[in-house]
Amino acid sequence: MGGPEMAPHTPQRSAPPGKAGGRLGRLTLLSPRSARFGPLTLLSPRSARLGRLAPLILIVAGLLLGCPDPAVEAAAKLRVVATIPDLKALTEAVGGDRVEVDALARGTQNPHDLEIRPSLMVKLRRADALVVNGLELDSWAEVAVHGSNNGRIITGAPGYIDASRGIQPLEVPSGRVDRSMGDVHPLGNPHYTLDPGQAPAITATILDGLARLAPEHRATFERNRQAFLARLEQAMARWNATMGPLRGAKTVAYHNDWVYLFTRFGITQVGTIEERPGIPASPAHLARLIRTMKEQAVKAVVVEPWSDQQLAGRVARETGARLVVLNAKLGQSSGPDAYIATTDANIAALSAVLR
Ligand SMILES: [Zn+2]
Repeated sequence: MGGPEMAPHTPQRSAPPGKAGGRLGRLTLLSPRSARFGPLTLLSPRSARLGRLAPLILIVAGLLLGCPDPAVEAAAKLRVVATIPDLKALTEAVGGDRVEVDALARGTQNPHDLEIRPSLMVKLRRADALVVNGLELDSWAEVAVHGSNNGRIITGAPGYIDASRGIQPLEVPSGRVDRSMGDVHPLGNPHYTLDPGQAPAITATILDGLARLAPEHRATFERNRQAFLARLEQAMARWNATMGPLRGAKTVAYHNDWVYLFTRFGITQVGTIEERPGIPASPAHLARLIRTMKEQAVKAVVVEPWSDQQLAGRVARETGARLVVLNAKLGQSSGPDAYIATTDANIAALSAVLR
């Protein structure tokens, strides 16, 4: 192989074909002139020898000119990190096989409150893009990004994608929020990913972000997104049919994270077990809540996997409501339809206790 004909090439990525000089002059096989005549029409004994080497030369040329090559393509996948699994699933739905996505928080962890471990910084160090929920749900990610020392994904960098950009936040405080009180929703309710009706806006923002980093794949991202939204629309018809007869049903949530989903399907949230987002219930608050729940015949207490199940169970027992644990974040499932599958499970569980 090779011998004197195939000296190791020197990196001259920007050199135009046929003008690279020296041994790279062999690339004249690919020059516009020889392409016009077709490389094989010019075969002299010397170029016949080159002809045998043509596949190799093409590979070298491909590497030099940045042409597609399977190994190069695999390495060219965008490495994306999402703060929460919901955004991982939606990024996979848009990015398809052009992305490799990892999530920082697991499905069983409270997304408000994640311990920053060195393993998170390792994930972030190699990332081309970071997808955040925003609205201060995952502001802990800033600390992890800082620790990762990766300038490509800091706030405002091209690789920083804030999925809340196209969302109309609910429950935006009208006055100034005193953060010293510990309220964890100072910019409005950040749990919009739990409402499947927000997925078109979220995926549009993700698409913009991915296409900023890999403009050559924009059409693929658009196709992937459209296919996902078509499947989502079918599922939405199913969810509307299930939830339609339950409009006006009354619930209490442990943490205030279902308001987007409840608003979508006309479910009334009478109150929350937490006194305010992130602030535990005082005895006086619980007494008031239980009285209201009895008066209004609240049917269900909705609780997240990481909240105090015992307290939620006690409130449900005392008021005759039914207790239901919903997936307030995607579980371990992955793939483009994990988002739809999780919403399916939530709608099934919620509708069962509201009937
Ligand atoms: Zn919250």
